[in-house]
Amino acid sequence: MSESKKYDLIIAGAGLSGLSLAWHLIQEDYKGQVLLIDESFAPNNSKTWCFWGKKSHPFTEIAHRTWRQTDFSALDFSSRLAFQDHRYYCVKESDYKEKILRALQKAPNFDLLEESILDFSSNSTKAALITKDSNTYLADYIFQSIFLPSNFAPEQRKYPLIQHFLGLEIKTKEKIFDKTSFTLMDVDETFDQGFAFMYLLPFKKTRALAEFTVFSDTPLKKKEYKKKIKSYLKNNFGLERQDYLIKRKEYGEIPMDDRPHTPTYASRIFNLGTVGGFTKPSTGYTFSRVHKYSKACAKELARGKKPLSPTASEYRFRYYDLLLLRVLATDVPASRKIFRSLFKNSPVDRIFKFLSEETSFTEDLKILSSCHYPPFLKALTVHPPFLTQFKTQKIQMKHQPISSFDEEDIIDKQDYLMDVEI
Ligand SMILES: Cc1cc2nc3c(=O)[nH]c(=O)nc-3n(C[C@H](O)[C@H](O)[C@H](O)COP(=O)(O)OP(=O)(O)OC[C@H]3O[C@@H](n4cnc5c(N)ncnc54)[C@H](O)[C@@H]3O)c2cc1C
Repeated sequence: MSESKKYDLIIAGAGLSGLSLAWHLIQEDYKGQVLLIDESFAPNNSKTWCFWGKKSHPFTEIAHRTWRQTDFSALDFSSRLAFQDHRYYCVKESDYKEKILRALQKAPNFDLLEESILDFSSNSTKAALITKDSNTYLADYIFQSIFLPSNFAPEQRKYPLIQHFLGLEIKTKEKIFDKTSFTLMDVDETFDQGFAFMYLLPFKKTRALAEFTVFSDTPLKKKEYKKKIKSYLKNNFGLERQDYLIKRKEYGEIPMDDRPHTPTYASRIFNLGTVGGFTKPSTGYTFSRVHKYSKACAKELARGKKPLSPTASEYRFRYYDLLLLRVLATDVPASRKIFRSLFKNSPVDRIFKFLSEETSFTEDLKILSSCHYPPFLKALTVHPPFLTQFKTQKIQMKHQPISSFDEEDIIDKQDYLMDVEI
């Protein structure tokens, strides 16, 4: 048997979060040997990542489009809202991947490998990654964005909401879109199976991504999202089906639940990205949170320190998320009123700052007092402040820990995993 390859770090999964960590390691001039592994590095354009931020935010330089204002509409309130400090950026998945992969190909301490990952394991001194081709790679630490934490228990979530959406990127014959403003939310009052809205990103006068988005616990049939988009384009832009071509589709189901914070998959194996709980429960936004952690963690590693363990959001922000999740899960009409009052009564920059969890407690109070509050009062009785517990899952080994990674152990481990898979 050939000897297992050993690395300082393995990054398992080269999507948003895996590439983010790799990128920040290069920026921090990390000298260790790194393996980045994914089942495919082929260019993919199944997503666009949007985020708000300031000019210093990573990856604003490759933004496909940037906006300084947004349109918002809910119930009787409809307005164009200009940003003061922030911009809203949209980065194409293909541009993001290309930029980082090019940099990695020039970095002598990075190996890139296309293989499908089967599982991970670890003991007190090493972590191991096992592929479906029965290859094993060892490292001091693994960062993974592939599998849900090994002790993830769906039934522990009080509000198992999903943000599910389907978007159509269309090209029109006529110049009809105003590319200076995007639509963050055009709330759909006619839809009662969840809180729903249209999201519109106009890239050019003749090109836009229109997405029908729902916060609920069950995805719709694909044709239902398409029907909504079709009627939105007709009602708002007078577009009949023959007036546009569909150039791209994107579909997503993003978790918006109150899962316990689980920073590690097993000892020496850290969770990244959506499976690691980096998605903000009340919004589904992930991009900025991923980069914030990667930057801080890469700094520590480049200084020869241990990886920074991902930390949970502050208690108050987890608590606000929980209250909003409760309203979204139990009272759709009240949810519409909350979003309407939030955007009507608070400057949009303050809302962005709040959703980025960067506000002071005084600013939180300003935001919260600007919202339609009766549904929150009801939620407070179910989840009393300061008595609500948020769990952090302790590390549990998925399999019996292997005592040391000598060749025999690795063979046993692989056989065991292959049996499980069959
Ligand atoms: C359509 C869509 C649009 C989104 N838009 C936004 C947005 O605008 N803003 C925002 O903040 N968030 C957005 N999100 C949420 C979130 O940012 C993305 O889902 C993001 O891609 C999550 O990053 P990740 O690293 O956790 O997972 P991914 O980016 O999905 O990366 C996981 C990687 O693991 C690889 N992989 C999986 N299984 C294996 C295996 N067995 N072996 C080897 N490799 C494997 C995959 O190939 C992939 O490259 C969106 C999500 C979706 C689905």
